[in-house]
Amino acid sequence: MLSDIEIAQQTTLAPIETVAEKLEISKESVELYGKFKAKITLPEDKKAPLGKLILVTSINPTPAGEGKTTVSIGLADGLKKIHKNAVLALREPSLGPVMGLKGGATGGGYSQVLPMEEINLHFTGDIHAITTANNALSALIDNHIHQGNELGIDPQQIIWKRSLDLNDRALRHTVIGLGNKAQGVPREEGFDISVASEIMAVVCLARDLSDLKSRLAKIVIGYTYESQPVTVHDLQVEGALALLLKEAMKPNLVQTMEQTPAFIHGGPFANIAHGCNSVVATKAALRLGEYAVTEAGFGADLGAEKFLDIKVPNLEKAPDVVVVVATVRALKMHGGLASDQLENINLSALEKGFANLKKHVQNMQKYQLPVVVAINEFATDQTSELSLLQKLCQKIGVKAIRSSAWAEGGMGAKDLAQTVVDTINQQKADYKRLYQDYLPLEDKIKKVACEIYGAREVSFETNARKQLKEFEKNGWDQLPICIAKTQYSLSDNANLLGVPDDFVLTVREIVPKMGAGFLVVLTGNILTMPGLPKYPAALNMDIDVNGNASGLF
Ligand code: ADP
Ligand code: MG
Repeated sequence: MLSDIEIAQQTTLAPIETVAEKLEISKESVELYGKFKAKITLPEDKKAPLGKLILVTSINPTPAGEGKTTVSIGLADGLKKIHKNAVLALREPSLGPVMGLKGGATGGGYSQVLPMEEINLHFTGDIHAITTANNALSALIDNHIHQGNELGIDPQQIIWKRSLDLNDRALRHTVIGLGNKAQGVPREEGFDISVASEIMAVVCLARDLSDLKSRLAKIVIGYTYESQPVTVHDLQVEGALALLLKEAMKPNLVQTMEQTPAFIHGGPFANIAHGCNSVVATKAALRLGEYAVTEAGFGADLGAEKFLDIKVPNLEKAPDVVVVVATVRALKMHGGLASDQLENINLSALEKGFANLKKHVQNMQKYQLPVVVAINEFATDQTSELSLLQKLCQKIGVKAIRSSAWAEGGMGAKDLAQTVVDTINQQKADYKRLYQDYLPLEDKIKKVACEIYGAREVSFETNARKQLKEFEKNGWDQLPICIAKTQYSLSDNANLLGVPDDFVLTVREIVPKMGAGFLVVLTGNILTMPGLPKYPAALNMDIDVNGNASGLF
């Protein structure tokens, strides 16, 4: 069997100008980045009609991922097969997981976005620009202190961290400024992975350059000796940061293996950040396509919740349908089967694990949105398992459609595409947010924890409890929340599979992200700088003397 990269390398791509032309994008709006990538700047048009929005999400994944990206790509290609004009809007991969856990973020098998080597590595440099803007701010903060500290920034109360787009556990906690006086003021520092940087969230949520600048200005970097918040605007550097990000704000156009247009732009993780590609890319997909297909990261408890409660108000458009991706093997794992047994037929484990899918479907229905289940078929799935899963879905009143897009491309997702179109035509989406921003902060956290995760209650550690009061005093409590939590479980404990029902969600810390416009709520032992596994994916990678990459999945 061919690997993803081998399949990708055998595919003939259309020049990206051709892809843009088919979307009727004018030549002036296209900036080429080589033959197969382009940045697109659409002229502003508030009255432009928008297509239908399809949000792809999933059950709680197993460590390999359950195939949301693969199904999203297959679904867009499937829509094309039934003569609909579909445009994808996906996140760009971070080098952390690319070099770490096996599996890229460009789909797999015959449902891929290309050129996968470039998209998975440096792409058009947006994440580098974000990292640079993040670290420019750090350098400017430390220089401000070194040069006399006019603002009275307390080095022990700086919350702005440096960032790097790699999994590098050694940088989680560090000390900087060591040496003599000329080397700056010593203080404790830490690094976050770039995809958790507030700059990434700002780029992904900003409508345009002026919104970008005003969001950057509002970022809180720390506190003075009197514990007053200090912002980027106090440092007067929002202009410089916006300038560093001007190209990164433009969405990137590429194509699927079947030449369906795909915007890939912005890549916050869904466990430690808000998990959705940029507002500008999704808007572009909605303007150019009859159907825009977009993915929110990890399970529906994380990515979809954040899409619906954080991104939608900024996008000013809610999904017309939600597609929940499930796999037989992950449901069997949720039903208690050991990870080395997942390829064996086991109907009772599947039936038990179905509870996880049911919970996610019901969660999406709380937002008053129509739901379709997509069963991402694996070669090891048995017909009896697939039909049991369809029956279980039928019992709770949702259609479950099999997708073999991984093995067959768009042809394998034609049924799914038709069902999605029919559902949009027949069922009205009547989006309702889970909470309103004016609810007290503690109540918002409880609402997501109890209603979406199924927690019995929420416990706040002493520090978090103190922060609840401080945030209220600062007037920051009126913002939506972005809970940082493990993706593997509905709870904050990765080991609790299925539908844990008697757990307490522990809130450790709350971090203000005033530029992004949300508060990050850290739970359990989630980390904002991941580490590499024992056998990182990097060990398989190589390049030959002709410049051909190998081992990239
Ligand atoms: P997600 O977006 O949910 O994280 P991806 O679509 O990136 O998941 O898929 C994760 C990995 O699983 C990829 O390496 C992909 O090639 C592989 N994969 C997805 N669907 C299938 C399938 N049906 N059969 C085999 N491998 C698959
Ligand atoms: Mg994905």
